[in-house]
Amino acid sequence: MITRWENLTRDEIAALDKDNTIVMLPTSATEQHGAHLPVGTDAIILSTLIDRIIEKGTFEKGNLIFAPQLFVGKSNEHMGFAGTLTFSATTYYNMLHDLAKSIAASGFKKLVLFNSHGGNTDMCNLISRDLRIDLGLNVYVIDWWFTDFWQNGLKDIKQSGMYGVFHACELETSLMLEARPETVHMELAVDEDPADCFKGDKYVTVFGPVNAGWKTADVTKSGVIGAPTYATVEKGQKLFDYACDKLLDIFAEIADISY
Ligand SMILES: [Zn+2]
Repeated sequence: MITRWENLTRDEIAALDKDNTIVMLPTSATEQHGAHLPVGTDAIILSTLIDRIIEKGTFEKGNLIFAPQLFVGKSNEHMGFAGTLTFSATTYYNMLHDLAKSIAASGFKKLVLFNSHGGNTDMCNLISRDLRIDLGLNVYVIDWWFTDFWQNGLKDIKQSGMYGVFHACELETSLMLEARPETVHMELAVDEDPADCFKGDKYVTVFGPVNAGWKTADVTKSGVIGAPTYATVEKGQKLFDYACDKLLDIFAEIADISY
């Protein structure tokens, strides 16, 4: 079964086989995405992806339950642009910890933090170990910003350059053209590389290896980091299909893990 937590009754949740169920806690963000995309971009992409996984309908290795999505995350890097909502690190940590504790209290054993916003990645990785130690949960982090998650999906369709996929970019704009085209204003899309001090063949770049604790206004004037003008709805369709298949493959591997 693949479904959303909120659609189950108390007794249905109690009756689930906890040894064969993975609970996903979707983490996203509400933050500026340049002039052309809505502030809900990260949240809309994630909830659309969850809808499509649920539409697929079957998971042969047990149950996938999507807990209520968090539409606000840690986005303080975007403050200074209108429309951004953020929790502080400590508030966000405590919320995630409380939710995981509640999920564990219903008897679940496997939890996936399913994240669509790069500013949440460090928190997800940090808290995953604390949840293992504090609650005994087996916790996994699926993050698509600081892993190779999209790499194969983008291989044949990405047309922009080295910095084309980062924020409000070719990838996110294509996904939004497919998910919610009426909210995308392509006539306002501008491409922008990171500021010179954060790019090139050096140590301190937006991709590392030396990480700077930048805020968005240090890196971009427009609020875009990437190349949204390369986005198309066809790319968005292919990328959603790719992500659905890849995620089901990841979930299947997590279902088989025991320790
Ligand atoms: Zn985004």
